[in-house]
Amino acid sequence: MIITKDYLKSIKPKVKGIDDKYTWWMYKKLKEMTTFQSKHIDREVFVYKSIPKETEGQMLYTRIYIGWSDGTRCITGYPINGKTEGCYMFGMGNNPRRDKYFEEIKDFFDKYLKIGICSYAEHNSWYGDNRYIEIGNTRKCKYCGHWQKREFYTIKEIKRYEKWVY
Ligand SMILES: [Zn+2]
Repeated sequence: MIITKDYLKSIKPKVKGIDDKYTWWMYKKLKEMTTFQSKHIDREVFVYKSIPKETEGQMLYTRIYIGWSDGTRCITGYPINGKTEGCYMFGMGNNPRRDKYFEEIKDFFDKYLKIGICSYAEHNSWYGDNRYIEIGNTRKCKYCGHWQKREFYTIKEIKRYEKWVY
């Protein structure tokens, strides 16, 4: 998608330094990716998710990357749902020599505008609890309307101690 000034304005978090429905990370990255382009060429920003191949004994995870293309089949970008920063370059499509392949998420920016971080961050993830309104033993996500209920459970533990005796 071509990121317009209006789009950037709509996804700017309200308070400086504090993420809300939208994150400063996303705002800054999109701004950075779109403002250093030439005045005559609008740079398109893409969002891709990595789909790991199923390999026995391997942890499977999906990462979402945001980046731009140089016109080839390569995308340069950053992972948005991981804690690692860094610019990656990767080819598109299913390459048998790679351990994963990438698939474009075409409606990402529409979804991000509507429900913010809920478009990619799990509700029990490390993004924190400030997106909830608690009502009794339930809570509702302020951004997307998702409901969760509180469940209680008990864990009985057996502890083993050590001491030196005569
Ligand atoms: Zn939500």
